Amino acid sequence: RTMSSFSVPVPSCLLQPLKVPDRLLLGPGPSNVPPRILSAGGRAIIGHMHKEMFEIMDEIKKGIQYAFQTTNELTLAVSGSGHVAMEAALFNTLERGDKVLIGVHGIWGERAADISERIGADVKRLVKVPGQYFSLNEIEQALSEHRPVLFFITHGESSTGVVHPMDGLGDLCHKYNCLLLVDTVASLGGAPIYMDKQGIDILYSGSQKVLNAPPGTAPISFSDRARQKIASRKTKPVSFHLDIGWLSNYWGCDGKPRVYHHTGPVSGFFSLRESLAILAEKGLENYWKLHEETALYLHERLENIGLKLFVKEKHMRLPTVTTIAVPEGYDWRDITAYVMKNYSVEITGGLGPSVGMVLRVGLMGYNCTKANADLVVKALADALQHCKKSKV
Ligand code: PMP
Repeated sequence: RTMSSFSVPVPSCLLQPLKVPDRLLLGPGPSNVPPRILSAGGRAIIGHMHKEMFEIMDEIKKGIQYAFQTTNELTLAVSGSGHVAMEAALFNTLERGDKVLIGVHGIWGERAADISERIGADVKRLVKVPGQYFSLNEIEQALSEHRPVLFFITHGESSTGVVHPMDGLGDLCHKYNCLLLVDTVASLGGAPIYMDKQGIDILYSGSQKVLNAPPGTAPISFSDRARQKIASRKTKPVSFHLDIGWLSNYWGCDGKPRVYHHTGPVSGFFSLRESLAILAEKGLENYWKLHEETALYLHERLENIGLKLFVKEKHMRLPTVTTIAVPEGYDWRDITAYVMKNYSVEITGGLGPSVGMVLRVGLMGYNCTKANADLVVKALADALQHCKKSKV
């Protein structure tokens, strides 16, 4: 008998088949991936530097330009989740000591402030309680007081269910010689955004919400103004992986032959390509309309069963992610657990500053149907009946 030289044995769990439950994902993301996108991700791998791969990346770039409504040359997808795009935006545009103004009207502003602090930026926060948004006037006052080089705002605040107005923001920022950075992870494809027309300098999104691709790739684009700020940097960005100079070359945006930087998520790019193809086929304006109409349909039915929407002003409601005020006397955890257990449907509670305040329902892309709205309303009505009210 030979003694094994391994101190760590074969994990027996890995000798069992992979188990993945069937779930309807009606939370704030990820959303379900339709068969066409799933099968694109299951195609044979090719090399990340093959010319066919570069052609697919060029197609992705065109798809992102369409989805963002931009002609920016520096448009690509980073290898990573929405947070990676967020870091790519902040790491490249900010240097230590730069003053940045962050609009915090939910968790995403908090995260952007945290990331900016890590690189030694001088962070100023403009804060609202969950469910609210900033007026142009408030933003102008903060811009004139702090004179930041960058202003961050979340378009679709998925933790609170607010869609932030974008009109006039770009001009306002530029008047103060400030770049405008917008997070559209939870809203792209589901609520109107026009990068060029609205004067947005850096825009990023995610793959796993309205686009219905698996998590792991994130669209991002930089305006010429943003590129100038980057070109005038005195120091290199702290992240090699996210250095936009390298990424620009990898994505064929600098006109130079491509040099190896990192191995991109080939399957993730195939999936993203198909999700952008679906968006192109459907048409942005139709998709925006679908999300708006389905959200209105859902909101009406939620109110019919006695639930209250968290965002009071109708036009401020994010069509992709609906926030419902946690009904009085209930524990939100009981409701989400009941819906998961009995319907195999995911809905979630709040996030960051909205924890305990809201339930969140996402109807995004492929999942954005009246049938899904009906199902979630039925599940919620059932949960209200069965989840014991906590003793107060
Ligand atoms: N911003 C917003 C508005 C989001 O909704 C999310 C995802 N919930 C993110 C950023 C972060 O994306 P990810 O989870 O893919 O890192």
